[in-house]
Amino acid sequence: MNITPFSSIKEIRHLLDSKQLSARELLDFTLKRFEAFDQGLGSTLELFDVESILKASQDAGPLAGIPGLIKDNICQKDRIASCASKILEHFSSTYDATAISRLKKSGALLVGRANMDEFAMGSSTETSAYKKTHNPWDTSRVPGGSSGGSAVAVAAGLVPWSLGSDTGGSVRQPASLCGIVGIKPTYGLVSRYGLVAYASSLDQIGVFSRTVYDNALVLSVMAGHDVNDASSLAIAPQDYTVDLQSILPKGLRIGVVHDALNAPGMDAEITAAIEQAVAQLQTLGATIKHVSLPTLDYAAAAYFILSRAEAASNLSRFDGVRYGLRNKQAKSLVDMYSSTRHDGFGAEVKARIIVGNYVLSTGHASEFYQNAKKVQRLIRKEFIDTFKDVDVLVMPTNPAPAFKFGAYDADKLQIDLQDYFTCSVNLAGIPALSIPCGQTKDKLPIGFQLIGPHLSESILYRVAHAYEQNTTWHTLHPQGF
Ligand code: GLN
Repeated sequence: MNITPFSSIKEIRHLLDSKQLSARELLDFTLKRFEAFDQGLGSTLELFDVESILKASQDAGPLAGIPGLIKDNICQKDRIASCASKILEHFSSTYDATAISRLKKSGALLVGRANMDEFAMGSSTETSAYKKTHNPWDTSRVPGGSSGGSAVAVAAGLVPWSLGSDTGGSVRQPASLCGIVGIKPTYGLVSRYGLVAYASSLDQIGVFSRTVYDNALVLSVMAGHDVNDASSLAIAPQDYTVDLQSILPKGLRIGVVHDALNAPGMDAEITAAIEQAVAQLQTLGATIKHVSLPTLDYAAAAYFILSRAEAASNLSRFDGVRYGLRNKQAKSLVDMYSSTRHDGFGAEVKARIIVGNYVLSTGHASEFYQNAKKVQRLIRKEFIDTFKDVDVLVMPTNPAPAFKFGAYDADKLQIDLQDYFTCSVNLAGIPALSIPCGQTKDKLPIGFQLIGPHLSESILYRVAHAYEQNTTWHTLHPQGF
């Protein structure tokens, strides 16, 4: 067996362990592929040099010698963490995020920083202050967002895995639009220490990969309690790869969210592909139930308010005093704050800060923020009740395949509606995974979500793995890479 651009971690592990390939050869191979293709794809903001990559990785664990790419809002010691924003263009992190230190300890080679929507605000990676990232299946289209760079590098066969962050859908949505696997773990399973906060009560670090096994492996390395994150769950690390089988768990009950599949605006090809996936899961032995989630219609609105409120608060720390950019010509302190923020933040970030401060302001907080929190409680309760009858839920990840650059410039609300099927999961704090299940007639990937109750990662991976082993979608890759 030889290394190919689309070799999985599992295959690479075998090549490395049997000494058919050295870690340095693999790293050279990886960096050469970035050199050859990333000019056109724009998945990275920076690639590190070979020596510093090798030096940063410490011990030999399950990811020894395996290259991966990190979204640029996750801190890597002595590397820039710009969040694709001008305000942090020169900000270098003094420490590793917990997820990063655990990956380094397991021997992973972290090759660079992935492009993203500025501060993870967006669904297409178009709000990056630096560059566009192109979908490898059709480079005139967006990769999704906000973790677009991370998704593209995996989909185009540049690295076998990458990290993103998911606040309202930013791992699952680009995973689906790029034809790969992406997980948003249970809130609190992966430490947020060193993840630059967007909406802290919703943010989770997630994993992109081309196979379910690889995804489970990377999550196993990162997950588990961390004293540095007060919201981290007291959960011992677990190896999610051990239970993976090609058959479904006996007696599995799958709930298909019917209103979602038939929601207005759903692309007919996506609905058809997901219905086929459901039929496949039934053939594999699952009992299918139709369920309805009436609160789904309110999730995007509640998410809109809560995410902006938290963003306004979190981003107030970028004031020219503590991190990154500072306008040194300013004549007064207030002028320094405002001109630094004026120059440093892009339009989308500014709009969110303004909305966030508005929904939190005296006189409006009860109308917006507090009502949104009530809706969030209803959403949580609806999921808890639904999981009394079913083990996992099937929902679309996206209402439509990847769109063209600029498609929604004139109607930004359409961009926010990209989160329609994903953000309720963040509001409930539960895990969800997106997995490829088809292609449109234009050869654009289609994915669907498997959603489970709190800490059901292991069952989500089992179902996804059984589906993957009995279908061929994960074997399809974009042409020309
Ligand atoms: N598209 C959503 C937003 O812009 C989700 C972003 C995310 O998950 N980081 O808020």
